[in-house]
Amino acid sequence: MDETIASKSSWAEPFKIKMVELLRVTTRQERERIIAEAGYNTFLIRSRDVYIDLLTDSGTAAMSDRQWAGLMLGDEAYAGSENYYHLEKAVQNYYGYKFLLPTHQGRGAENILSQLLIKPGDYVPGNMYFTTTRLHQERAGGAFVDVIVDEAHDPQSDYPFKGNVDIAKLDRLVREVGPRRVPYVSLEGNVNMAGGQPFSMANLKELHAYCRQHGIPIMLDATRTIENAFFIKERERGYASRSLARILREICDLTDGATMSAKKDLLVNIGGFLACNDEDLFKRAQNLAVVYEGLHTYGGLAGRDMEAMAIGIEEALMEEHQAARIGQVRYLGAKLEAAGVPIVKPIGSHGVFIDAATFLPHLDRDEYPAQALAAAIYVDSGVRTMERGNVSAGRDPETGLNRRPNLELVRLTIPRRVYTQAHMDVIAESIANLYARRTDIQGLRMVHEPQYLRFFQARFETISR
Ligand SMILES: *Cc1c(COP(=O)(O)O)cnc(C)c1O
Repeated sequence: MDETIASKSSWAEPFKIKMVELLRVTTRQERERIIAEAGYNTFLIRSRDVYIDLLTDSGTAAMSDRQWAGLMLGDEAYAGSENYYHLEKAVQNYYGYKFLLPTHQGRGAENILSQLLIKPGDYVPGNMYFTTTRLHQERAGGAFVDVIVDEAHDPQSDYPFKGNVDIAKLDRLVREVGPRRVPYVSLEGNVNMAGGQPFSMANLKELHAYCRQHGIPIMLDATRTIENAFFIKERERGYASRSLARILREICDLTDGATMSAKKDLLVNIGGFLACNDEDLFKRAQNLAVVYEGLHTYGGLAGRDMEAMAIGIEEALMEEHQAARIGQVRYLGAKLEAAGVPIVKPIGSHGVFIDAATFLPHLDRDEYPAQALAAAIYVDSGVRTMERGNVSAGRDPETGLNRRPNLELVRLTIPRRVYTQAHMDVIAESIANLYARRTDIQGLRMVHEPQYLRFFQARFETISR
């Protein structure tokens, strides 16, 4: 790492602010009404009623002046937009895949990839599930199998690479069903549901060797892989002096293709892509794109969006950007930890995850402690967070029961380049106060449950005792 960054524990944003958006503060009384009207689901609150928005880091970044300037270079031709070629070049350069298909966002790419590679009865191993990724795998007829290391399911374990694949678990599956029933391994960088936890390069090399031996491709969920590269640089021997760009390239070179939600790492408000090295797969993906996304040179995006994404790749690979991004997340996490609030460790890259099961031990998992805590945080301070636990995990398709995952978390996701350290102080203060009054927080009953990805639109009522 650059000496000036590595040798200091303090950091500063590598930008100055040239335009601001004013925030609106509501009263507690208003928020009590608003959360009840939203069915205790923070996804159903209007943005104007939110003070500090930590719902997600997806599409919420502040773009740079260069990216905004890039919007003006939008070539809004239906076919063959100049911006498509810029993006293609940037993806080839930095990610290293040969072929690029833009998509409107990450799940557009997941849909196409799943439909093309998964047959009914297949098994798709992955390092913990992601909601949309698993849903598309299941809709294509596959069954997701979790092969992440056990440490990932333990919020208290401070293992530095909780995103690693447990090769023994993978091998057990491959032996049981045979490699022909495993169309690919789904590998996510900085595993979102585990709290933003990285895999190591050593683990990826081992996975690569195993997969080559069995003829199984590796498909990367590249959504937060640049953040994963930062952790490799920081924690893995031999990587301290390598650039993030080189580490990213090394990761991608060990995989066969990627789906990407550019709304995360790449500092844009919308966009994604599917990239791969197999020409036949690419041609079939381009063809399927016209069914779901649009022509293969825009994939549901405006030309200007592709331009902003191409510029975002270079900005995301700047060391000082990631140091400040991850530094800010750690600042908030350290404050919460100092207040005794139980959080997932190590602190990940895109947010701080509160262990709601430990925060609210008086609630049963089917009273949705993380959902209840997210609602209580909103009422206390107008800070919007989200549930990552029993509601997000959904029901087991076989038994129809709630999956009741080990991790019952509230995610405080930090948008990139949007909030300041003072905002982090306000958030930490509110949650510390709430922790002192935690026994007052009531559980919830689900009163409306949508069929797909229920956490987005489910509604709840409080259970009064
Ligand atoms: C957000 C996300 C996706 C889905 O991408 P969208 O752009 O929201 O469709 C897929 N995988 C991971 C890890 C994500 O965080």
